[in-house]
Amino acid sequence: MSKTAHIIGAGISGLSAAVRLANAGFKVAVHEATHQAGGRCRSYFDGATNLTIDNGNHLLLSGNSHERAYDRSIGTEAGLVGPERAQFPFVDIKTGQRGQIDLGDGRLPTWVLDESRRVPDNGLSDYLKLAPLIWASEETLVGKSIPCEGILYQRLVQPLLLAALNVDPPEGSAGLAGAVVRETLLAGGQACRPLIARDGLSAVLIEPAIKLLRAKGASIRFGHELREFAMSADSVGHLKFGEDTVAVETGDAVVIAVPPRAASSLLPHLKTPSKFRAIVNAHFRFDPPGDMPPILGVVGGLVEWLFAFPRRLSVTISNADRLVDMPREELAQAIWRDICNAGGVSGELPPWQIVRERRATFEATPEQNALRPGPATNWKNLFLAGDWTDTGLPATIEGSVRSGDRAADLVLAMRRA
Ligand SMILES: Cc1cc2nc3c(=O)[nH]c(=O)nc-3n(C[C@H](O)[C@H](O)[C@H](O)COP(=O)(O)OP(=O)(O)OC[C@H]3O[C@@H](n4cnc5c(N)ncnc54)[C@H](O)[C@@H]3O)c2cc1C
Repeated sequence: MSKTAHIIGAGISGLSAAVRLANAGFKVAVHEATHQAGGRCRSYFDGATNLTIDNGNHLLLSGNSHERAYDRSIGTEAGLVGPERAQFPFVDIKTGQRGQIDLGDGRLPTWVLDESRRVPDNGLSDYLKLAPLIWASEETLVGKSIPCEGILYQRLVQPLLLAALNVDPPEGSAGLAGAVVRETLLAGGQACRPLIARDGLSAVLIEPAIKLLRAKGASIRFGHELREFAMSADSVGHLKFGEDTVAVETGDAVVIAVPPRAASSLLPHLKTPSKFRAIVNAHFRFDPPGDMPPILGVVGGLVEWLFAFPRRLSVTISNADRLVDMPREELAQAIWRDICNAGGVSGELPPWQIVRERRATFEATPEQNALRPGPATNWKNLFLAGDWTDTGLPATIEGSVRSGDRAADLVLAMRRA
């Protein structure tokens, strides 16, 4: 009889583990507490704008190798779209200066040698000062490794690291920042092409996975929150979901792919990150002008990235704890002013929605990074996944998929043992 892998949590980490295990012939049972899959990466219909929106604009890069493999495995690769080359138009709304960083499409970061493609008003020596990040340890601060000031920092390093770490870069872990730089900037333009799920996160990254899992006979239960485990000395024996209890038979495995707070309440002795940072997204029902780039970096304002979707303009603001209690209307007005300046549009505030994810990511500081556990536990049939586990990356989709793949590989190794 085939063995069952119980996946707790249907976010990206849980789904990537589930897909890998289903493809390897495991019987998969996914248990999700809420009534929707996707976790922190999901779409929903919003009455205020009368549009389907995402909880957050998720920016991916072509070098996100595990995420791209996940897309291929669920047949949705074409759903992530972006420019042919790694070009990042930007506008500085303080000075009005517009420009573009063109990382090209090569496998080496040769763009730094070409004055017309790198950040304007910078020399090669400025880029060389970033080198210490490449080998920095996870305990070091970004602010102690590289200069966190000047044009190169403001136009390239700060936006990249703020988006990836979701903390003010100088306080971030240089080791995590270094991993991002190694896998993106240092890997040349071919690894840096920006990609977005134009038809929505759920349509591109979540629903195809659920469909594939169902086609492979997996059971997917929503509103099925794991409340407790019953453990024997070295393994999980039962999963308790409140109303019902599920037996974990010999050879079965359990992957917990829930956020850190839920994981530590299920496993009280587990060390997990305990501090989080918010991300604010705002969506405006507005037809973007035809010449607006799909992704525009915004420097010197409240808004950091402006995304042009069909019938919608949308912005992301990272490290946004300062905005979570600001009155919504005031925040929408302030963001709309930035959009008008950056995007060259005008008009009254259109229908809008603001999504404030208070615990969007764990704090990517050295202190919090040191609290991330690996995938194995004290129980031989219980494994951990999640963007907050020790993936070597900050809390990103790429890290989530990597954690799901890694947990699935441990389940497969358990079956072989
Ligand atoms: C606003 C926002 C913007 C972001 N932008 C980007 C970006 O641009 N690029 C990028 O790469 N990443 C981005 N991220 C990060 C990315 O979304 C996360 O890293 C990723 O979605 C985390 O997936 P996960 O599966 O690890 O966790 P989650 O998505 O949190 O999934 C955990 C799941 O477990 C379920 N669960 C919890 N407790 C239980 C229980 N007891 N029983 C059963 N189920 C349970 C939850 O309901 C949830 O569905 C962003 C995140 C946010 C919030």
